[in-house]
Amino acid sequence: MHSPDALIAACRSTRPEEAELIRRAYATAQAAHAGQLRKSGEAYITHPVQAAFTVASWGLDATTIAATLLHDVVEDAEVPLQTISDQFGEEVARLVDGVTKLSRVKYRGQTGKAETLRKLVLVLAEDVRVVFVKLADRLHNMETLEHVEPDRRVRIAHETADVYAPLAYRLGLGKVSGDLEDLAFRWLDPSRYAWLSQVMADHLEHGAARAQAVRQQAEEALALLGVSYVRIDSRTKRISSLGKKLRRLDEDIDKVYDLVALRIITESISDCYAALGALHATWRPLPGLVKDYIAVPKPNGYRSLHTTVVGVDGVPVEFQIRTEQMHNENEYGVAAYWAYADAKGGKSQANVQVSAQHTWVQTLKEWQTHLQDPDEFLQAVKVEFFQDRIFCLTPKGEAIDLPAGSCPVDFAYAIHKELGDQTIAARVNGRTVPLNTVLESGDLVQIVTQRGKQPSTSWLEFVKSTKAQRWIRARVKDQSRGA
Ligand code: MN
Repeated sequence: MHSPDALIAACRSTRPEEAELIRRAYATAQAAHAGQLRKSGEAYITHPVQAAFTVASWGLDATTIAATLLHDVVEDAEVPLQTISDQFGEEVARLVDGVTKLSRVKYRGQTGKAETLRKLVLVLAEDVRVVFVKLADRLHNMETLEHVEPDRRVRIAHETADVYAPLAYRLGLGKVSGDLEDLAFRWLDPSRYAWLSQVMADHLEHGAARAQAVRQQAEEALALLGVSYVRIDSRTKRISSLGKKLRRLDEDIDKVYDLVALRIITESISDCYAALGALHATWRPLPGLVKDYIAVPKPNGYRSLHTTVVGVDGVPVEFQIRTEQMHNENEYGVAAYWAYADAKGGKSQANVQVSAQHTWVQTLKEWQTHLQDPDEFLQAVKVEFFQDRIFCLTPKGEAIDLPAGSCPVDFAYAIHKELGDQTIAARVNGRTVPLNTVLESGDLVQIVTQRGKQPSTSWLEFVKSTKAQRWIRARVKDQSRGA
């Protein structure tokens, strides 16, 4: 069993007061979850501890690690949020509260809802660190999903594949995104997963041996041309990504050139291009497969050079070339930026080349480069991307996207015209409220209806959505015509 000391040792930062915070959070979580078991039969505490190791491996700060240890104590162990705030401070409490709110969100594979839900997660999170905690939480839940009953298992796997894996990808957390996708795939398409595992097993040994031979020749070529590099790694393609690729290639494994790819890690960007040149001087590159994601990064911030050369025995082999820093950022995304800013006392060494494409990840990265103080960065990172929209939840956990300033009547009309027309009262987070109450993101809204009820003209004074306005007017017109 892991100990607080092992966790502290796994942290990037070990200032005494930070170690102390982690130790206390560990003890509180252990006490709160005492006697509780996971579906696997393990002690519950193994779950927050495992998630905490994950965020520690991303280089995140002690506050985030403490919040990860405590992320389930409010929801599952009935510790009041106030207690967390009193014992661990506002910041830890805010992160725990964010994760608790996210646990209300449920996705049931509704078409067109995945994007809304991804936004909702960001809005509810407020602080991007909440998303990191949630991703670490989800990763461990997916790793232990076999113990969950089949119906829930499939729902969680869908939610992971449609909401959390794409979210991690957009945050640039390539590694966790891929891990989540693989773990979900296993439950969403078990027979294809089994087939792909077999295909992989059949070809991996040969592919690895070939890559090893190419790697030796590559080392010689780089040495001959005096190109300096840190190391050459090999990486095996992920099962979910192999599955997608095979679909595009008529399920023909012989057309997959990157089952095992080689990765050259260099010190500088100029060494990346020099290495590419050395490879092309040695082997013929396949046309159309030379990709410069350093000059033009992918929208999620991914940077690397890619090329596929015709190597030993005329078999194509893919190379990926990148600096160590790019590699960390590709694997750990915004978490890596955040960790850099913190470690450097705000003096960021990340020299980000911002692509023309303005995704919000790029915005985050720009902020990160321009803001000197980590606290200031943190303020900016509080998600402000959807200022004009709010996201509220139905009692079933379905997310409803509304304009800011919306009230329960807007909410009702957003779900269904009849629901809006027949609204007589509303409960928000369990409390009955006036129909003109302004909703906030994350509110759980319950609409009380009465059959045959007609909308009131007075509603037009406070509804915000054009949908509600339009339907109320239409209805009022009908009424006056009928009278
Ligand atoms: Mn959890």
